Amino acid sequence: MLEGKTALVTGGSRGIGEGIVRKLAALGANVVFTYRSSADQANAIIKDLNLGDKIVGMQSDAADYTQAEELIKATLERFGSIDVLVNNAGITKDGLMLRMSEDQWDTVIEVNLKSVFNLTKHAMRPMMKNRGGSIINLTSVVGVFGNAGQANYAASKAGIIGFTKSIAKEVGSRNIRCNAIAPGFIDTEMTGELDEKTRDAYLANVPLKRFGKVDEVSSMVAFLASDDSSYLTGQVLSVCGGLNI
Ligand code: NAP
Repeated sequence: MLEGKTALVTGGSRGIGEGIVRKLAALGANVVFTYRSSADQANAIIKDLNLGDKIVGMQSDAADYTQAEELIKATLERFGSIDVLVNNAGITKDGLMLRMSEDQWDTVIEVNLKSVFNLTKHAMRPMMKNRGGSIINLTSVVGVFGNAGQANYAASKAGIIGFTKSIAKEVGSRNIRCNAIAPGFIDTEMTGELDEKTRDAYLANVPLKRFGKVDEVSSMVAFLASDDSSYLTGQVLSVCGGLNI
């Protein structure tokens, strides 16, 4: 399905990102993925996949403009093109507004939103040269509905939606598609921090009555990465067990 294509995935060492790396690699893509600090985990994934030089893990801070530029350059040097860019890296630093520090706000906006600008900005020219590409941004249902205690996170994820739709309009004529995926509550370390009471309260609003699996998000990424979704752009696709209805 993705044989001959090269995908770049930010934040691929754990959680949803790891699932995306595994799925795209299984479908035949060359994969470059990044992490912030989990070098051991990244190496373990590469060893486990055993795909030789078709997979590369790199430490790269997605929030850093220059590092993003170097990452794109390194990917092009290694594989010659970037067909799929998955902006997955993300963090939370929750707190009610009265207690939220400037640092909590700035860090979340930089890692979650500025990173999407950084990577997209530098991937765009090579995609244009390549006469096509698929950009997939991980937003969240929280970016659509908001969530008490997550104003920074919700703002970053809402920003990603506006960015996605704008880029789709800017570069659609160049055969570059840009879509967003809005997961609901997916079982990863990010949601593992929630206490039982909070988990139960979330589940009460999920028609499918369970948290989602990483695989259920990575399947949507694979679809958006492939030519099967060739007439889809500017969309926000929710993978949320019906939380949004
Ligand atoms: P996670 O388990 O916490 O993993 C986050 C990944 O991002 C890790 O690989 C981490 O690298 C990497 N990362 C963090 N900061 C980075 C930076 N500055 N530069 C590069 N990489 C960085 O998160 P997740 O639950 O898989 O979430 C993945 C994405 O889905 C995020 O954008 C999140 O907002 C979104 N999402 C998740 C859920 C959910 O329920 N889990 C719901 C909606 C949306 P290290 O391992 O080195 O720290």
